[in-house]
Amino acid sequence: MADPDIYHYSLEIVPLDCNFVPADSAISAVLKLLEVKCLDNQQTDQWSHTHIQLVGLIDPLCQELICPSCGKKDSPGCDFFFPLVEMLSEQPPDESDVEMECCGSTVKVLSIDFGDKPKFAKFGFTINNRSEELDKNTIVEIGDLLGCPVAQFVEEELSR
Ligand SMILES: [Zn+2]
Repeated sequence: MADPDIYHYSLEIVPLDCNFVPADSAISAVLKLLEVKCLDNQQTDQWSHTHIQLVGLIDPLCQELICPSCGKKDSPGCDFFFPLVEMLSEQPPDESDVEMECCGSTVKVLSIDFGDKPKFAKFGFTINNRSEELDKNTIVEIGDLLGCPVAQFVEEELSR
């Protein structure tokens, strides 16, 4: 008999400025705050990269984005998203261009707005085993502590 599907949830918190990397003291202050706000099994990891990364998964079936060239909100589908994800696995988004399906313009990948998620970031927090967002006041407080406003989104991953 097959094992039951296991869903793994995490809450991602990233600065709205994708280049932003906070000071160590600010990171410690946020980790302290999250320790109070989260349950024992919701462990918070901080991460940072030398290059900007795409944080969170693209869902080609229902993903909507806003074209930075013509402003159209569109769901371009698998033929657009799969090559994009593959490209971003090989080169960072701030060095990548892509041709939009809506208007044929070539745009910087970094300038694409994916909506709520995924986001671009160099630095972020991942709270494991958490499927609920933090309340708005906490998100504002985290932004204040870090020195840059942050966005949050829940990521769901099916591991078999
Ligand atoms: Zn367009």
